[in-house]
Order: sequence, then structure tokens, then C-alpha cells
Amino acid sequence: PTSPKAAMPVIDWEKMNNLVPAIVQHHLTGRVLMLGYMNADALATTLEGGLVTFYSRSKQRLWTKGESSGDRLKLVTLGSDCDQDAILIQARPLGPTCHKGSESCFDDDANQPFLNHLASLVHQRRDAPKESSYTASLLTGPPRRAAQKVGEEGVEVALAAATGDRENLIDETADLLYHLTVLLEQQQVPMSEVVARLVERHR
Ligand code: AMP
Ligand code: ZN
Ligand code: ZN
Ligand code: ZN
Repeated sequence: PTSPKAAMPVIDWEKMNNLVPAIVQHHLTGRVLMLGYMNADALATTLEGGLVTFYSRSKQRLWTKGESSGDRLKLVTLGSDCDQDAILIQARPLGPTCHKGSESCFDDDANQPFLNHLASLVHQRRDAPKESSYTASLLTGPPRRAAQKVGEEGVEVALAAATGDRENLIDETADLLYHLTVLLEQQQVPMSEVVARLVERHR
């Protein structure tokens, strides 16, 4: 994540009375962080400085998110929608985006990509009694067991692919993703760090 290379998007300012909604997403997870409004000046400032800047209707001035709290949003990329009246921004948050302290202003588990949602469920199982939960038994059992399961499920995925059994491939891939999620939780490696590694390689 160095200097942003986003181009100026085409916006139909006239149609929107010079103010368009801008949705900010976490650049690694896609989670919606907040909604703000931008005028042309806010958009130019965001592209030039690399910090997400809105036009605040209450303050009636440009507002760089995090200007007082320090919880800024570093621009990764942005673009406009099909009819040029909305902006979608990918950003790297430097702190909680909501001024009430949560990661997202839409502080709801439904506002999570599914694998993140699964990861947080698995995390919650740390405190569950291991008799009642398979996940808890993996997390609290011998450390090698979760790793072993990932190995087994990986082999099962490969076998399903080799035999051309599509339904079985889907089942085994689901098993593998679940057990990988448990292993990462056990090893205390956040899924976002894995995605960050993929993004790095993609550049
Ligand atoms: P900040 O921009 O983080 O320094 O916060 C300055 C002020 O902007 C806060 O006291 C809030 O009034 C407002 N604010 C900050 N973050 C948000 C947000 N995500 N949504 C709406 N208002 C916000
Ligand atoms: Zn639109
Ligand atoms: Zn908020
Ligand atoms: Zn399996």
C-alpha cells in the first residue's frame, strides 16, 4: 500500500446538485465501513492527498475523515457507478471508522463477507465447552489435530477433483475452508493477513 493510483472518475455533478454519496469499503475484506458525501473539491483532495475526504453537510466544509481522531482512511482505489452518481472507495482504515468506536458504522455481523463471519463465529467458540462444540474441541484439543485435519481435507479435495465428482468437490472444499479457518484461529493468524499477502502478490 504505497501512493494511490486511482484515476479521476466521471461524475454527473449537475444531476446530483454537486454532491454524491461515497461508500467506503475495507480494501482487504470488502466490508462496508461508512457512507459520506463528496463534492468535486472533496474528490480532488482525496485523489491528491490519498486520505478520504468528504464534504460535511453539518460542518459545511471539507472534512478529512480522522482529522481530529487520527482514524484516517488511506485511499487504495475508487471509482464511480454505472450512471455516474455514486462513488465506491476502497480504503485502508488506520483505526475504527465509526466515531462510536467500531470498525464500521454499519456495525452488524450481516455486514461481513461470509468467510469473515465464519472466522468470528469460530473465534467465539474459544469459550464454548468442548463437549458441545466440534470447533471448540479442535481449538482446545492437541494443537496438531487442527493441522492434521487441514492436511486430510486438502487430500480429500484433491481426490474429489481427480474423480470428477463435482458435489463431492464442493463438500470437501467447504470442509477444507472451515478447517483452515479453525487452524488460523488456533494459530492466532487473522484471515485479513492472509488476504493481504494475496493482494501483495497480485500487484
Ligand atoms: P474524525 O473525522 O474521525 O476526526 O471525527 C470528527 C467528527 O466527525 C466526529 O466527532 C463526528 O462528529 C464525525 N465523524 C467521525 N467519523 C464519522 C463517521 N464514520 N460517520 C459520521 N460522522 C463521523
Ligand atoms: Zn447510480
Ligand atoms: Zn458511525
Ligand atoms: Zn472432508
